[in-house]
Amino acid sequence: MSEPITLLFATRNAGKVTELRVLTAGLPIEVQSIEDLDLPEVEEDGDTFEANAIKKALAVSEATGLPALADDSGLEVDALGGAPGVTSARYAGEDADDEANNDKLLAALKGVSDSKRTARFRSTLALADVTGELGRKCILASGTCEGSILTERQGNGGFGYDPLFYSPELGQTFAQAGVGPKNQLSHRARAMKLLLPKLTRYFGL
Ligand code: IMP
Repeated sequence: MSEPITLLFATRNAGKVTELRVLTAGLPIEVQSIEDLDLPEVEEDGDTFEANAIKKALAVSEATGLPALADDSGLEVDALGGAPGVTSARYAGEDADDEANNDKLLAALKGVSDSKRTARFRSTLALADVTGELGRKCILASGTCEGSILTERQGNGGFGYDPLFYSPELGQTFAQAGVGPKNQLSHRARAMKLLLPKLTRYFGL
C-alpha cells in the first residue's frame, strides 16, 4: 500500500468536502479542507468552470506548496439560457446564501412548464501541484448530470440547488437522495471518476 498523499481541497463549501471524502474513500488520499487555513480569497472571475477551477487550484497550491484540487461547478438551466452557470454561488447577489439563490431560481422560472424546466449540473475539477512535476499545468476532468428544476423544494439533504434539482436517474431530488446515491451519478462524481486514474498515475499510487 502506498503512502497516503495529502490533497488540499480548495473550497470552503462543506458539502463539496463531504462528497469528495466519500468519493476518495478507500484510496491512499487524505482530503483536507482549507477551511482552517489562512489563505487569501480567490476571485472567481473566469468565464468558464475550467478557468475558475484552474485559478483556485493554482492559488492554493502556490500558497501552501502542496498539491491542491479545486472544483468549479454550477447549474445550467435551459429556459434561462444556461444561467446561473459560473455565477451559481452568487446568483442572488455577492453574499447570497443557498436559500436566496433557490428563491431567485424559482422566481425566474415562474410560469415555465414542466417540460421546459430542464437543467444540468456541471463540474470541472483541476489538480495543481506547483512544486511538483506539473509546474504551472493542471490535470483536468469534467462531468455533467442532467435533470430538471421543480416548482418547490423537496428534501433536506445536500447543499446549494439540491432541493430543487430533480434527477430522473434517481427518481428524486439530490436533497432527498443524500450523499451516497448522489455520489453515484453527480456531475462531481463523474468528473472525479475521470480524474482519479490520472491522479493516481501522477502520484504513482
Ligand atoms: P463554486 O464552484 O464554488 O463557484 O460554486 C458552485 C455553486 O454551484 C454552489 O454554491 C451551488 O450553488 C452550485 N452547485 C454546484 N454543485 C452543486 C451540487 O452538487 N448541488 C447543488 N448545488 C451545486
